[in-house]
Amino acid sequence: MSSIRQPSRLELTRLTSIAERLSGLWQHLAAHEVLSEILTGNAFIKNPALVSSFGADSAVLLHMVSRLDTSAQIVFLDTGFHFSETLSYRDRLTEVFGLTNVRTASVDPIAVKRLDAQRRLHLSAPDSCCQLRKVSVLDRHLRMNDAWISGQRRHQASTRSSVSIVEVDEARGKLKLNPLADWSQSDVAAYKARYELPDHPLTTNGYFSIGCAPCTSAVRAGEDARAGRWRGQSKLECGLHNRPNIIASSEHVA
Ligand code: SF4
Repeated sequence: MSSIRQPSRLELTRLTSIAERLSGLWQHLAAHEVLSEILTGNAFIKNPALVSSFGADSAVLLHMVSRLDTSAQIVFLDTGFHFSETLSYRDRLTEVFGLTNVRTASVDPIAVKRLDAQRRLHLSAPDSCCQLRKVSVLDRHLRMNDAWISGQRRHQASTRSSVSIVEVDEARGKLKLNPLADWSQSDVAAYKARYELPDHPLTTNGYFSIGCAPCTSAVRAGEDARAGRWRGQSKLECGLHNRPNIIASSEHVA
């Protein structure tokens, strides 16, 4: 299902060495400074793409990017199951921030016809559905990129507790960069308030982590932000971030 090319051991060794070097160089930088390094001429990162879900907290990283380079490449994975509110929020943020290079990566219609013509795969095999509609779409899109940027944060969920600023995405043979890795939810809220960033329309209805409509529900008081994802199932992540080789940078300043 995936068109990914397996990286060689030599490539992974080289990437690990770069990740260790960048982690050391960036360990005392703030998030916007890390982003500046990523977007404006780091010798090791020539063609990065920010992968954004245009979800509840996505405006922070998109806003930071817009202040550095409105032509930075931003990728939105269109699974075919997004809330209409997410699609309009994507368009609104693109316009408000003046972003000129937002690319929508869509699922392969031939693969959908073959594997999920009835659009019910998410009910019987959600991991396969995420593989079809998210993971393989990103694999295909990132073939031309040296690195990708994600909005993952350690405080979002137990599955993300070891997220670091610089990681090696071993499955794809890329660097993965998480400038907000150290940010808490209150850091995010403070940034949004400071710059008066537009909210995703569904946050007022209790949606604090927003993915595909069939697999996202509102969060109840006391639950963590991702509790509404795949509610009632053991599934916690879609697979985009699986098994990175983490390079620790716990001293990082948000
Ligand atoms: S989140 Fe749900 S609908 Fe979306 S790709 Fe995954 S299983 Fe399919």
